[in-house]
Amino acid sequence: MAHLVLLNAGGTISAEAGPGGVLRGGAGPAVLAQGLPDAALPVREIGVYRGLSEDMTFADVSGLLAALAMAVADPQTRGVVVAHGTDTLEESAFLADLMHGADTPVVFTGAQRAPGALGFDGQINLMDALAVAGSEEGRGLGAVIVFAGRILAARHARKRRTTAPDAFGADGGDLGRVAAGAVQLFARPVRSPPMDFHGLDASVEIVTAGLGASGRILDLLTQQGARGVVLQALGRGNVGRPLVEATARATASGCAVLVVSRSDEGGVAPEYEAGRRLADAGAHFCGRLDAAKARLALACLLANGLDSAGVGAALKTYGFS
Ligand code: ASP
Repeated sequence: MAHLVLLNAGGTISAEAGPGGVLRGGAGPAVLAQGLPDAALPVREIGVYRGLSEDMTFADVSGLLAALAMAVADPQTRGVVVAHGTDTLEESAFLADLMHGADTPVVFTGAQRAPGALGFDGQINLMDALAVAGSEEGRGLGAVIVFAGRILAARHARKRRTTAPDAFGADGGDLGRVAAGAVQLFARPVRSPPMDFHGLDASVEIVTAGLGASGRILDLLTQQGARGVVLQALGRGNVGRPLVEATARATASGCAVLVVSRSDEGGVAPEYEAGRRLADAGAHFCGRLDAAKARLALACLLANGLDSAGVGAALKTYGFS
C-alpha cells in the first residue's frame, strides 16, 4: 500500500525538559505522527536515533542513511520525512542529498521549540514536511529541508538562526513554500550523480583562517595523519603565507586539502595571489560548499578510496568545483 515513511531521528522535536528545564534527548520512543491531522497517505514511523543531533556520530548518521536508502528502495514509499535535531540537520540532509539518485521526495525537518514549550513548531513543520513528501512537486528535488514554511535545497541550506522559528536559509534562496498542505515551487536544484557511500573518514578536520593565523593547527593535523583537511579561508579563498606553507606541507604528505570560504555567499576561486598560491600548493577549490558540507564530502570521498588527485576530479563530477 502506498505510504510515507517518517524516520524519527531525535532532536528538539522529540526532546524533553530535564532538571532546571534544560533540554535533553527524549527518553522514550516519541511517536511524532500521533495527534497530527491525517496526511494524504498513511505514515509509517520508524525510530532511527534518539538523542540530540550534537551527539550524533558517523555510525549514527550511517544508520540513518541506511534506513533512508531502505525506505526509498520500497516501491510503495511515496516520500520520506526525516525528523532531526536542527544543529546538524543540514549535515545529515547534505549526506542524504549526495547519496540520493531517485526522484522520491526526501524531506528533513525539526523544531526550534520543544514539545510542551509555548510555540512548539514541531507539529506544523512535520505537517508541512509530510505535505512536501507526498506531493508531485516534491519529486526530483533531491533531499530538501522544510522548515517554517520554506523549502530549501539540502545542498545549500544552513542553520542561520539559533532560536528563531525560521531557522534555516540557503545561498541561492528558497526552492519554494508550503502552507496549509499546498506546495508551491519557485525553482528546481541542479542535481549531480549520486555518490557511493562506504562510510566517512574520521580523520578529516576543518581549519579556519583568520587575520595573522599561523599554520600550526594544520601542521599538527598533518603530523597526526589527517587524510583530509578543509581550509575555511578568507573571502574569495585567501589565506596568509604561514597557512599556504602549511598547506604545501600537508599536500606533500598526501593530505587532501579543500578550500572553502569563511563568508556565507559567493564561493571561492583562486583569483588573488594568495588563492593562486594555495592552488599551486595542491589545494582544491570547492566552489560554494560551506566548511561543514565540504568536510562531509571529503570524508565520503576518502572513505571511497580516493587520493587527493581523485578527490579533485570527483569534486568536478559532483559539481562542487
Ligand atoms: N540541539 C538540538 C539538536 O540538534 C537542537 C534542535 O533539535 O533543534 O538536536
